[in-house]
Parts: sequence; C-alpha cells; structure tokens
Amino acid sequence: MAKRVYLFNEGSKDDRELLGGKGANLCEMTRLGLPVPFGFIITTQTCREFFEAGNKLPSGLEQEYRVALELVERQMGPRFGDPSDPLLFSVRSGAPVSMPGMMNTILNLGLNDEIVEGLARRTDNPRFAYDSYRRFIQMFADVVLGADGADFEHEIERYKAAHGKTSDVEMSAEDWQEIIRIYKTLVDFPQDPWEQLRLAVEAVFLSWHTPRANVYREMNNIPDTLGTAVNVQAMVFGNFGDTSGSGVAFTRNPSTGEAEFFGEFLFNAAGEDVVAGIRTPLPVSALQDRLPEVYDELYRTQALLEQHYRDMQDLEFTVQDGRFYILQTRSGKRTGRASVKIAVDMVGEGLITEKEALMRVSPEHVEAFLHPMVDPDRKTEVVASGLPASPGGATGRVVFSAEEAVEEAARGHAVILVRRETTPEDIHGMKVAAGILTELGGMTSHAAVVARGMGVCAITGCSDLSINYAQGTATTRSGQLIRRGDLITLDGTAGEVMLGDVPKVEASTSDDFQTLLSWADQHRRLKVRANAETPEDAARARELGAEGIGLCRTEHMFFDADRIDRMRGMILARDRTERQRYLDELMAFQEADMLALFRVMDGLPVTVRLLDPPLHEFLPHGEEDIAALAGRLGKSPQQVGEMTEHLSEVNPMLGFRGCRLSVVYPEITEMQVKAIISAAITAREEGLKPVPEIMIPLVVNVREVRLISSIIDRAIQAVMQARQVSIPYKIGTMMETPRAALGADRLAPAVEFMSFGTNDLTQMTYGFSRDDVGRFLPQYLDAKLVAHDPFVSLDQRAVGRLMELAVHESRARKPGIKYGICGEHGGDPRSIQFFHDLGLDYVSCSPFRVPVARIAAAQARVRRELED
Ligand code: PEP
Ligand code: MG
Repeated sequence: MAKRVYLFNEGSKDDRELLGGKGANLCEMTRLGLPVPFGFIITTQTCREFFEAGNKLPSGLEQEYRVALELVERQMGPRFGDPSDPLLFSVRSGAPVSMPGMMNTILNLGLNDEIVEGLARRTDNPRFAYDSYRRFIQMFADVVLGADGADFEHEIERYKAAHGKTSDVEMSAEDWQEIIRIYKTLVDFPQDPWEQLRLAVEAVFLSWHTPRANVYREMNNIPDTLGTAVNVQAMVFGNFGDTSGSGVAFTRNPSTGEAEFFGEFLFNAAGEDVVAGIRTPLPVSALQDRLPEVYDELYRTQALLEQHYRDMQDLEFTVQDGRFYILQTRSGKRTGRASVKIAVDMVGEGLITEKEALMRVSPEHVEAFLHPMVDPDRKTEVVASGLPASPGGATGRVVFSAEEAVEEAARGHAVILVRRETTPEDIHGMKVAAGILTELGGMTSHAAVVARGMGVCAITGCSDLSINYAQGTATTRSGQLIRRGDLITLDGTAGEVMLGDVPKVEASTSDDFQTLLSWADQHRRLKVRANAETPEDAARARELGAEGIGLCRTEHMFFDADRIDRMRGMILARDRTERQRYLDELMAFQEADMLALFRVMDGLPVTVRLLDPPLHEFLPHGEEDIAALAGRLGKSPQQVGEMTEHLSEVNPMLGFRGCRLSVVYPEITEMQVKAIISAAITAREEGLKPVPEIMIPLVVNVREVRLISSIIDRAIQAVMQARQVSIPYKIGTMMETPRAALGADRLAPAVEFMSFGTNDLTQMTYGFSRDDVGRFLPQYLDAKLVAHDPFVSLDQRAVGRLMELAVHESRARKPGIKYGICGEHGGDPRSIQFFHDLGLDYVSCSPFRVPVARIAAAQARVRRELED
C-alpha cells in the first residue's frame, strides 16, 4: 500500500504531483531550515482513491494520519484535543497546479467548547480565543457542513445592531461567546476534534469539484484528473495582539516586475483578513519600523526563497507574539509586463537561462504588451483613486454584480464590474468584464490576483468610492454619483477612475519584451505569418514580427462603400458582358489593394486566397435596401429581389462558395489573378520583391485544383505577355474539407503549398456550424461533452488526426511540400504546440496574436527539447 501521509520533513519541491504545489513547497521550506509551522500532507493519490471509492476515505488513512499528527505534536509542543495546551490546525487544499482562492480552507480546527476555554487560559486572552472559535465554527459550517456563510454574518450584524456596536474591534470575549451560542443553534457542530479533522479532509477533497474550482480549471486548462492534496498544518496566530499580524509578500513587484521586495501586512489580524481584502493593509515596510528584527528575518527569508526557487515568490507569513513564521511560498502570479521583465532580468542576473526565461512567460501574458492604455494626454478629471492592481485601460458601463456583467456583456456592451470586493463566486462576471473596480482590498486581494492572471485591467482598494448595491450607485468622496449603466474609464496602470470614455493608446512595447521576442525567434522552428487584408493591418503585423501574410481574405476587400455596389452589380449581372464591366472596375481596386500589400510585405510571401464566401453574403436582404440598390444599379427592385432570392441557400456554408465559385464563374478568378500579378509586376518595377502565392479555397479533389490552376496560369500568362515580364508565383490549396485531408496524397503533386483552414475543417469534421455553435456549445462545455471550444483550441483527437494524415501522405508523395495553417487556431498557444509537433512550416494568425505565436512557437520547441 502506497504511503498516503507525508510529514513536512519527508518531501521536497519535486513532489508537486503527489503532495500538491503548496505541500511540496512547505516540505522544501522545512528542508531549508525555515520557520515553518510543522504538519503533514495527505497525497493527491489519496484524493483520486477517494473519488474512485465513491467519495469515501480509504480505510487505514485515519490510522496513518494519527501517527503523523503525534509526531507534529512532539515537534510543536501543544497537543491536539488537549484543553490544557491545545494544538490547532489549518486544513487546506493544495493541487499540483496553483489555484488561488479556488479551494476551501479551514482554520483553527481542533477547537470545541472545552478546548476554547483552555486556549483562553493558556493565552490569557479570552477575547482572542472566542474570536478564533467563532471564526472556526463559521468557516467549518460554511465549508464542511454546507451552511450559508451569509446567515452567520447576518447574526453578527444583528447582534451588533442590538448592542450598539459597529465594528469587530468593539466585540468583547463575552460578545463572541454569545455569538458562538447563536451559531450553534444554526448548525450541528461536531465537538470531537478527530471528527472535525476527518470531515475537513473529506470537504477539501470534495471541493475539487465545486463549480468555482471547475470554472478556474476550465479557464486555465488544468486537467480534472490531478486531484488535490490536503495540507494539515499547526496553526500560528496573527491576531494575538499588537506584536502579531499577517502578511503577504512578493519578492519582486508583481505589477511592474521591478526587483524590489513588495508586500502588505496587517497588524493583529489573521491571514484570511489580508487575502480577503476586508481591511486595506499597510505596506510591509511598516514592519521595519515596529518590529525590525521580524522584518530582517522576513527579508532574509524572501531573498533566500527567490534564489532557491529561481523565480519570483509569493509568500504568506504570520508573526505571532513577535515570532516570525513562514506559511507558504509559491511562484507569484504577475502581470504580463512583470513576467517578461522578471524573466529577462533573471537571465541577466545569471539565475536562469534564455530557454527557461522563454518558458516562464505565458503566451497570454505577452498580450499585456499589446493592450490599450489610457492616453496620458487625453485624461479627464480623476474622480476616484485606488491601487493599480492590474494594468491597461478599459471603458465600459458600470454594473454591480457578476450576473449583470454577464447579461450586459451578452448584449455586446463592454462592462466595468464594480464591487466592494470580489470572491471566487464572481469569476463568471470577471471573465466577461473589460475592467474591475473594487472599493476594498489590496494588491493581493482576490480581485487583484485574478484580474492580473486574466490580463484584465483592475483597480482595488478604491476607498474613494462608497458603493450602494441596493440603489445601484457608487458615490465618490467629492459627492459625484456614478449610476448603474454609466460609462466610466479605468486606468489600471495608475489606479485612476474617470467618467466617460477616455481615449486609449496602443500599448508600447519594452526593451525587455523585444529581448524576449528575439530569444523566441532564435529558438523557434515554426514561421509566423499574419492574416491581413489592409495595408494598415499588414504593416502592424510586420512590426509585430510577421514573416509574411498567410491569408489575405480577398472578399474583405470588397465590402467598402465604394466597392460593394460594384460587387453586387457583378453578382446580379444579367450576362457575361455586364459582369465583365463590373469585374473590370473591381480589378482596379483589387490591383491597388494588392500593390499596397506587396509594398508593405516587400520580400515576404503574401498568400492571397481567391474569393470564398457564398455570393448572397454581399447582397442586401431587407425590402428597402433591395429597392435602393436596384435604383443605384438601374434595375427594378423585382429583378434584384428575385436574384437575391435565387442565390439564397439552405446550407450556405456547405453551398455555393470557395473554389466552386471559380468553377462556375471563371471570369471572377481571372480578374483576381490578373490583379494580383499586375500588382506584383508593378511592385517589381518599383524595385521591390513581391512574393505572390495564390491559394484556392475549399477544395475537395485534385480535378478542381487542376481546372482552377489552368485558369490561373492562363490569366497570369496573359498579363505577363502583355507586360513583357515574367515573375515567380506559387499556386497552393487550402486544406479545409475532410475530403481534401483524406485525399491529400493526390492533391500534393498538383500544388506548391498547402494551408490548413482549421475553421472550416473543424466545422465539417464536427458537423458543427461555425455560425450556430454558440447555441449549444455552452451546454456541451458545462456537461463536459467537449473539453474546450474546438473553434478556439484545435481538437487534436479527430481534426488533428485528419491533419496528421494529410501532412504525412502529402509529404510521402511530395517530400518537403510547404505546409501552413491559417485558421483561428494559428494564434492559439495550445494548438501551436501541436502544429510544431506536426512539422508544419508556418502558422498564420491575426496581427495582434503574432508576438503570442512567436513565443508559443519557441516554447513548443523548447518544451520538446527539455523532454528529450
Ligand atoms: C478556415 O476555414 O480556417 C479559413 C482560414 O478560412 P475562413 O475562416 O475564411 O473560412
Ligand atoms: Mg475557410
């Protein structure tokens, strides 16, 4: 039988899988000789056994932890369940991957009616003892017994009101005793400490599957199968008096990444008071003045831990009666900006290698460099200030609850979620908010930690505001009223709130960011291109490091006001002559657009895809619009109406689109190709090096490719002859139907490159319409019928298998044929790992995703190297 219980001196930081991240770190700190309150850990394997047995603790477990607990007693002195000198425990979850605020914690376990009196005598502090006991009952009832925590708060409020008290500080030992009596009428509270412990262990295991833990895992791609360990640790107390307190600290600034020790401390407070953000804490430097020796020990400890773990650490510590204890250390959550700065600085300090630095930065965090910021020159009056908890600028309508946030966001509105403080129950609202603003809480409160993790702009501890949920208002110190639905702007970088929509500027990059990207470029194999049609997007993409255009969706070029009617005229033409007239006009636009792209992308490939969407997408549908168009085109409304009707399809996404348009209207393809090549020739005449690649969409077989290639070649030869030059070009195919993937060995010899259109390939493999999937996907995700949205992260099992087969068979027929991917998955870090493994040559994604993709591509390679 595998060992299920480990004392803190029996494990190390390498035991994360088995002991959870928190437990492994507690063991490691114990090994380093740091003042960690002693304890033991029940393994994640035991959690899996618990679930396998139908939520039952394995027999023999209690026996095992009783032995461990006795050893803890020996080390700490006091004894569990002994009223004369009681030892109390904290019981916490600890998954192999950090899940802040997601799992339940129970403090002060081991107190009962008799032991609390012992604690009061022993500490000579009855008020502290009864306060601890009532906290324990409240937490135990909430977390273990499933009672509603609000009922308990309510009782305290009622009691205070009846006795003319306004704050906890005014509550005496007798008051807390009375509260305890009331609490015990609300729940059947177990007096036996061993029963408390057993129930608490079960509750921690069960909390692995609470909805909020599930949401967090889903958001962070943490597998459900990991399970959690249980950490049982001797309690020390921060609420013991004025020489006690609790704090949280970061070894570097988690917002900016500056190498400065950074932390917050609350005197005479329990750890949960700091984390919950109920009171706004002091900077940790306050300790330096009042308890200098403790500060020195804390400072030494944080420096040692950062050196030891070679990463920025997030510490929790307690001072009990002037004695310093370290409770926890873990890799600190940080903003994107901080994560890049810390990684690059640590390479400079010789702490980590370039490859390690690359692996430290999450691709999502890179986006922080790309977020808009409030324009410093256009700022308006600051109506309230708070802590700059998560950077960036955001504007939105004020909402006061997570539910409202979800509703408003579903209506397409940007929202700012304004709360007194946030709790894990608010996650769904935070997820959709453009910004988060809280009245209470510090830089380490739930709101701050979660917002930073999500890259959402946030301000916490904004005590200038007074929020009234019932009235849906927030009043600033100067009396300014902000109502539900009002538009406000947050500057999360400065911690400032402004009214209305304040203009933003694109995020500027930093030298550190450029350094990291240059390392990424050295270490990646995959090339990164962009999906872009306009010269502006192409220029931005190039600035962000795109190595060409992997997909120019030419249809997007025809939607502008001056073009759309010509497109419509072409579609509605009575005959070929009329169609040709419109095509000639469209060609001028197409050629000018292509020339602009070739100029921006000088020397880099530009993959231009032939017209793809069903034609009726270009046509108006309402009667008024049809009549107006008819007027402009010199046709009767009836004619236009009939043609529109004629073009409408039952299944347009599986209908008359893609290369089928080229088959039926070769003249459209001719126009496009002539425009592309004419533009390329002009670019060449200007001394540039255009690299045109023409891509055929939605192919299902090689005969289509042969037919359309011959149309393309003929048109190109005509242009080249007319202009008396010859320039190189390539013809390739998109791979976006299952039939194309399955027949790739026949397609490959007929083309020079192939590019996966994973949007359509996913649509057709699943039979999930891209446009309608939103109606049922949320339920699919809830019921875990799919692990993630297959349109966001590639489904490797089936769609990926088609891709593997296609690449394998294409390259067997035509070794080394160039392969890319230009569906939305091209910018998704998880999918990029798969594309790297598959041996694709490039990914193509939207311009803003290019830096993300560069980092993800480097990580994909480094990850595999590290595994070797
Ligand atoms: C695709 O299907 O993946 C693709 C890139 O084409 P579109 O999204 O334009 O259909
Ligand atoms: Mg497609």
